[in-house]
Amino acid sequence: MTSYTVINPATERPVTQIEHTTAEQTDAAIERAARAQEAWRAVAPGDRGRLLRRFAEEIDAHVDELAALETTGSGHPVGAATWEAGQVRDVLAYYAAAPERLTGKQIPVPGGLDVTFKEPLGVVGLIVPWNFPMPILSWGLAPALAAGCTVVAKPAEMTPLTAIRIGELALAAGLPEGVFQVLPGTGSVVGQRLVDHPLVRKIVFTGSTEVGQQIMAGCARHIKRLTLELGGKSANIVFADADIERAAASAPYAVFDNAGQDCCARSRILVESSVLDRFMELLEPAVKSVRVGDPAAADTEMGPLISAAHREHVASYVPTDAPVAFRGSAPDGAGFWYPPTVLAPVAADAPAYTEEIFGPVVTVTPFADEAEAITLANDTPYGLSGSIWTENVGRAVRVARAVETGNLSVNSHSSVRYWTPFGGFKQSGLGRELGPDAVDAFTDVKNLFIATN
Ligand code: NDP
Repeated sequence: MTSYTVINPATERPVTQIEHTTAEQTDAAIERAARAQEAWRAVAPGDRGRLLRRFAEEIDAHVDELAALETTGSGHPVGAATWEAGQVRDVLAYYAAAPERLTGKQIPVPGGLDVTFKEPLGVVGLIVPWNFPMPILSWGLAPALAAGCTVVAKPAEMTPLTAIRIGELALAAGLPEGVFQVLPGTGSVVGQRLVDHPLVRKIVFTGSTEVGQQIMAGCARHIKRLTLELGGKSANIVFADADIERAAASAPYAVFDNAGQDCCARSRILVESSVLDRFMELLEPAVKSVRVGDPAAADTEMGPLISAAHREHVASYVPTDAPVAFRGSAPDGAGFWYPPTVLAPVAADAPAYTEEIFGPVVTVTPFADEAEAITLANDTPYGLSGSIWTENVGRAVRVARAVETGNLSVNSHSSVRYWTPFGGFKQSGLGRELGPDAVDAFTDVKNLFIATN
């Protein structure tokens, strides 16, 4: 059996060692989940909801502990990590209301009665990335459990600690054995087995577009249901008629949240040429005032990157001759630190402009008019997120409808809320998570005709 040493990204010191789950153990867990599902789907909807509420309460009682684990094991600033643990609680509580609302339809037909049922799919395999270990786990877990599915989750190899603890808290809350299992391990063993095992009826994958493509191909062999949340290269579009002060003040938070390791990062700022100079004047102090440092300190806004290898990857987008307009600060010494960095002007074919960096690096590009802003925003294979800054409501709606992306905000840097749908256009994904309809994605519709004559 192999193992992995979790490293604190802020200190580079080992935190703990985690044993990897083997392929045989993964198969055994999947079989346990399939057996548990027979009983779980039969739990009365009100009782399933009650158990999910208890699970949410158990998380609530351990928010500080979970946040501290994420700070140590993933380098998230404690303020952000506390919000993330709270999100797990809130997502569980939100979907606790779903089992009693999982209704079918009665459809008029001659000679009888036609009704539909939303049947749980069975065992769901959840494959989670390292950037937001807690929220992303909960986005798949809560609606799957609410639908009557059981869940086998694989956290990312580098960040398994909070998922393992959440698995323990599920049992403490009274969820039956086998309903939710957490299997730390590698993508190539545990992840692959979830994709290949015929008893897993759906995969929920969040991660890179490249691995997402492999998983989609693997799922095709079984016609396995699949939700994909993949990469992004989102635009933050600032028109001349916007509140430029607000747009510039919020731009760092739109891209440097979680040190830019965020699929929704608005990593391409597009600014109408006539206000470019003013915008850059305002952006510089905003970037320089982002508080980068010890993630355990309450006022820290940005922590380190996840690993030395990832820092090297991020740095490769900023070679020595890169057009660095200005940068924020980052601590020296131990830790995988990288300062918030603004590149301008960038060539249209520069990798920093075309590829997802997944780090605190943003490019600024001018545009002449609305048509060019839309063309630039859409000139990417991704389509996950984005923002539009304008005081003109007509333009806001027009541009929002034209930008090929799944989640947009107008005059705000954020568009992710657990009670609204989330997902990507183009190569950013398939299907939607969150919002009131997410439970349906863990069911298949059964149609039943009952003759009455
Ligand atoms: P990866 O695609 O490398 O990994 C994601 C998960 O998949 C990990 O748990 C990984 O395991 C696992 N995995 C890797 N290979 C396989 C395989 N062959 N079969 C099954 N599972 C596998 O992504 P990262 O962890 O590097 O995450 C960063 C990416 O995630 C970025 O591109 C980002 O945009 C995207 N992302 C998208 C979001 C969205 O909602 N659209 C949200 C957050 C991130 P392990 O690493 O343990 O080997």
